[in-house]
Amino acid sequence: MLRGIAQLLGFRKNSAYVNRSIQDMNIRTSVYMAVITIGFEVYMYYYILKKRYWEIGVPFDASLYFQQTKNYLILLLTGLMLLLVALFYQKNNQAWRRMGYVATIAFSVISLYFGFVVSFDDYMNGKQILAFLTMSLYAACLLIWRPYISMIMLAGVYYFFFSTINAAVEGGMRTGDKVNLFTYWLGLTVVVISIYHQRREVAEKTEHLEAANRRLQNIAIYDELTRIHNAYYFYEEAAKIFADADMDYRDKLYLFVNLENFKYYNDRFGFKAGNEFLGRAAHIIEEAFQGSLVARQSDDHFLILTDVVGAEERIEQMRRQIVNMQHEVRIGVKFGIYFPESKTIDPQYAVDKARYACSLTRDRFDKDLCIYDDKVANGFRRRQYIVNNLQMAIDAGYIQPFYQPVVWAKDGSLCGCEALARWIDPTYGFLSPGDFIPVLEDYRVIHQLDACIFECVCRDLRNAMDEGRPVVPVSINFSRLDFELMDDAVLLLENLVEKYQIPKDMLHVEITESAISDCLDGIRQAMDRLHDSGYALWLDDFGSGYSSLNTLKDFQFDVMKIDMAFLHGFENNPKAKSLLNYVVNLADNMEMRSLTEGVETEEQAEFLRAAGCGRLQGYFYGKPMSISELRDRINDGTYRVAAEM
Ligand code: C2E
Ligand code: CA
Ligand code: CA
Repeated sequence: MLRGIAQLLGFRKNSAYVNRSIQDMNIRTSVYMAVITIGFEVYMYYYILKKRYWEIGVPFDASLYFQQTKNYLILLLTGLMLLLVALFYQKNNQAWRRMGYVATIAFSVISLYFGFVVSFDDYMNGKQILAFLTMSLYAACLLIWRPYISMIMLAGVYYFFFSTINAAVEGGMRTGDKVNLFTYWLGLTVVVISIYHQRREVAEKTEHLEAANRRLQNIAIYDELTRIHNAYYFYEEAAKIFADADMDYRDKLYLFVNLENFKYYNDRFGFKAGNEFLGRAAHIIEEAFQGSLVARQSDDHFLILTDVVGAEERIEQMRRQIVNMQHEVRIGVKFGIYFPESKTIDPQYAVDKARYACSLTRDRFDKDLCIYDDKVANGFRRRQYIVNNLQMAIDAGYIQPFYQPVVWAKDGSLCGCEALARWIDPTYGFLSPGDFIPVLEDYRVIHQLDACIFECVCRDLRNAMDEGRPVVPVSINFSRLDFELMDDAVLLLENLVEKYQIPKDMLHVEITESAISDCLDGIRQAMDRLHDSGYALWLDDFGSGYSSLNTLKDFQFDVMKIDMAFLHGFENNPKAKSLLNYVVNLADNMEMRSLTEGVETEEQAEFLRAAGCGRLQGYFYGKPMSISELRDRINDGTYRVAAEM
């Protein structure tokens, strides 16, 4: 209640913005007031000429006329002054603001004074006090300030007017006039207060809008997390730098920076600490490259456009500082460098090249920096080719699944296949997933390939079933990004299964351990849905990443695919065997069945069988092969289809 009253009376503190807006609106009102006043005074000049000279026929006397109209002249000049100030008023200029105050107050005081004088005379002569009322209305509308100030001001003016007349007239002011005067004051006060609140509300709304706008503009060019510029800004500014006629493109280089292993820092210390780390790293980069164009592209990737001269020292400085930020996780600072080949090269394309060069240092302890040269350019062109021709390759049927046999360890009979994508290209020849999968993931188009493979697998299964040939379940590989990039990955699969009438137990869904370690809600939900609708979930590449066993307990995997890395050094290293034993038991304990990948020798197969691993897959049993080859091998008895899957 008290707060409500305080607010109504304007005791609540306004922001500087609201105060300024209210003043600006006062100045805007001044234009109308000034124009009305000027018009009225000019009319009065004419009116006096007409009434006192023309109609009566008295000869014109200039000095007398001036005497008679001098009050109007003062008002006219004050009005003109106010009009000029209001017209030239500049919102953001302190001096004009002050001038605005002075002009409105001066105008109000002068108008009130004349209103007072005229109405005093009028009242004494038994006439209405209209001049005072009008003038007080002007002043009130011009000086919309906080309600309590307006109330005090108006009350003061009205009381002064009333007490002067009350003292001057015999027997005091007439009661009826007192009541009228009081009512007018009250009415005017209420109007002024309501105008104030309206204006305050409008100003507050605009303030919020402008703040939101500024935020949007900031978001447009700043990276929210690190507070340095973002890629959008980088590309725009880089284009401007190269558009400068005086610049020599040979003086500049593009630098792509990748903080390798940052993911592990995140995993270990959490998201918040990871974000702080990125913020500090961004700051270090900006410091080291002062005067250059620096931005964060995304994740742990940064972009720099800098001078060739001095770049080496700067790179070294920032690398040292970032590495020394902490010693718990080995963060590699990797650089890709691209020297622009012309002035007209598109900054995005240039960054792509630097980025590609940087990608060649990935997972290499001996290499922190890669310069984009002719050799790198060949790889880059192939990568561009892959991205630009994905759809063409899908449509033309250049992309198709190859099938790698999965067998029961106990008797070597065929119990399934893994569908592995192959791209047989007329220009580049045989492309393996290692060539195109990482590229398609980088460019976030991997889902197009996966959708194509899923459909091919369903079609191949359908054909085999229609022809009455024996079929085995096929495992398909989901990329982590599929769940992000496909509208609805589960629905997509369901639709294919429906279209080709495939029993759900004929499809196994493989998801890598690293995909679920990110633990995104979307992936978790999708996996639950897949599991609930009857697909077996296979955990791919178990043991290849750093992810924790902890995440595993939250998912319902049917089969654990033990990564082929466990077989490295199998022959010479006794520890490899005990580790394999341990992992097979672990799967058992977690109520998953096990499959070991990458089995290449009889000895390995023998060992795994003894260890209790249920399924085996690897070159020893067969490389991935085309559907027709698989069919031939089943026909010729190379593979004996298991009775039970
Ligand atoms: P992955 O899912 O772990 O597939 C197993 C990879 O190991 C295959 O490589 C296979 O050819 C290879 N391999 C199988 N047995 C042996 C062996 O005994 N020794 C050796 N050294 N290697 C063996 P590939 O076909 O090159 O695929 C590589 C990776 O590409 C796959 O790893 C998978 O992550 C990805 N990939 C393949 N096809 C697809 C696909 O259709 N969609 C998605 N998203 N990823 C795919
Ligand atoms: Ca796989
Ligand atoms: Ca695998």
